[in-house]
Amino acid sequence: MVTFGNSIRDSTSFDSILFDLDDTLYPGNTGIAGACKKNIEDFLVEKCGFPESQASTLRVELFKTYGSTLAGLRVLGYDIDADDYHSFVHGRLPYDLIKPDPQLRNLVNSITQRKIIFTNSDRNHAIKALDRLGIADCFDQIICFETMNPNLSKATRPDEIPVVLKPSMEAMKIALAVADVDPRRTLFLDDNVRNVAAGKAVGLRTALVGKTMKTKEADYALETVNNLAQVIPEIWVSGIESGEQRMSRTKSDIDSILATTAVGA
Ligand SMILES: [Mg+2]
Repeated sequence: MVTFGNSIRDSTSFDSILFDLDDTLYPGNTGIAGACKKNIEDFLVEKCGFPESQASTLRVELFKTYGSTLAGLRVLGYDIDADDYHSFVHGRLPYDLIKPDPQLRNLVNSITQRKIIFTNSDRNHAIKALDRLGIADCFDQIICFETMNPNLSKATRPDEIPVVLKPSMEAMKIALAVADVDPRRTLFLDDNVRNVAAGKAVGLRTALVGKTMKTKEADYALETVNNLAQVIPEIWVSGIESGEQRMSRTKSDIDSILATTAVGA
């Protein structure tokens, strides 16, 4: 029987793991992402007065140019309150599309290092999505929109304080400071190629989720987060062991993790 106590944790490659949430801890094909896009387009029409025919193009352009619709609208001078925006865009998402994932819960609980959510979403959305997955109690910390944008509501003009989000360097630096982690001993999982590149630029170890091919800035690629133990056994396995001993420990550790994370186990 393998244990995952402090002695193993202290000698593994990672002290902490930063997890993106949307499309990383649950798959991108649940329908949540599509519903979110539709809500953003409705916001552009209903709250900002853009013609319906332009909403989709505008959403894409604002995202590409400014990182998010909210960030772009504020730069363009629209006085949009972040809480109002999030309650419109996320507040009415069909959260029941996110299904409980007991296999993920077992996997996350088997990780003894610090576990931190790092998402561009607002805290309400993060907690609702984590709750639906059945893993809301599994993390030490949530770094979210509010963490990166603490003073937004104090701006006297909408373009006075820029919205900070991944993949900006500022967002990455805030996350490292708030989480108080050594990036060289921290693994960062995200489904977004640009976020992964930003993580690499600040010295994090990086894993691209939802893809089979690594990008230049990704140290690992995982088709789904549930493949974590197979793709990155270093999370559980001592890095000081070597050669045959390490291989045998790796195999027994992974067998043990797979046994506890098997569906229905
Ligand atoms: Mg994501």
